[in-house]
Amino acid sequence: MTPEHVVFCTPYRSARELDYLDAVLTSGHVHGDGEFTRRATALLAGIIGHERILLTSTGSDALEICSILLGVGAGDEVIVPTYTFASAATAVALVGATPVFVDSDDRDGNIDPAAIAAAITERTRAISVMNYAGVGVDMGAIRAIADAHGLPVIEDDAHGLGARTDGIVLGTRGDLAIQSFHDTKNVHSGEGGALIVNRADLWERAQVVRQKGTDRSRFLRGEVDRYTLLDVGSGYSMSELSAAVLTAQLEEFDAIQRERHRVWTAYRTGLDAWADSQGVQLMSPGPQHEHPAHIFFLQVPDAADRPVMLAHLRERGILATFHYVPLHDSPGGMRFGRTSGDVARATSFAARLVRLPLWPALSDEQVDRVRDAVTDFRVAAR
Ligand SMILES: *Cc1c(COP(=O)(O)O)cnc(C)c1O
Repeated sequence: MTPEHVVFCTPYRSARELDYLDAVLTSGHVHGDGEFTRRATALLAGIIGHERILLTSTGSDALEICSILLGVGAGDEVIVPTYTFASAATAVALVGATPVFVDSDDRDGNIDPAAIAAAITERTRAISVMNYAGVGVDMGAIRAIADAHGLPVIEDDAHGLGARTDGIVLGTRGDLAIQSFHDTKNVHSGEGGALIVNRADLWERAQVVRQKGTDRSRFLRGEVDRYTLLDVGSGYSMSELSAAVLTAQLEEFDAIQRERHRVWTAYRTGLDAWADSQGVQLMSPGPQHEHPAHIFFLQVPDAADRPVMLAHLRERGILATFHYVPLHDSPGGMRFGRTSGDVARATSFAARLVRLPLWPALSDEQVDRVRDAVTDFRVAAR
């Protein structure tokens, strides 16, 4: 008898999502900015502790809005970690600017503040950072550099909804921040995202850019008697269908997080002795981080160990995987970006990374199977 595969990720199912979808479809208001957009936004505001939140159709769209709001344009540069998701670079390239790729720390995968400082030129228009695995970047150091140069910070918190570093909720320290509700994230709406506008002076314009460059948001609030084109923008709002699912999921946020932490902690304790014996580094966020159990990763000693380990796990029915290919080394990144300084640590981090299955409905028995398969693996003798 072959046991079923332990898949890498399955999108969360919430109890009320079908009822809420039915409510949207019978209400006659299926496009964006209805009852469920209001409810999901209020739930997010409760988690993040911030009122200026706009739901968007994807996290990538929210990153595009950041470029527009910060006036990034042709001839400008935006500093981006090479170890991040593609959208961080396309959001810059789409407005005609150049993403400048820099190195990351080889322990947590987060952007290296010293590499940011070294990459600043007179063309730099913004600094884009990402909280990898929902473990906060060194925002104190990054803000100090940004403030010294008068540069805004874009905080991609797609992995880190509700997580904290030094007690501060992630997504609240960038001038602008984004969340993603793609179905691979802790809380999802199929596709979806949010823009968090931490700077009050960008709030009005953020609403206009999200509504195809119009003042439709003010019209909906009864502040103007018709809506008109004021600015550039696009159709960035979230459908009520997605907002209905998002609302149902956010209502179960605490339960989702509890189950994810159950799995994460079982891996962390169950693999500790094996990791020590093999020279493997397990993800180990410091005590200042309340991470969101979005990812459990480990680092094998040598890049050559990774395909062997992934194949070993696959043979045992465990679908583990790697993660980002550094952007400086991708065809798109090479075409429209440039690299600043040495990116060896990010490259090594990316090449040695293995992520284990992590989703709320993983049973304890499945978690034990993953642990046993991992601890049966031996890295090549060095
Ligand atoms: C998921 C993700 C995004 C946004 O993805 P969308 O699919 O557009 O919502 C952005 N940045 C990071 C780091 C991500 O993981």
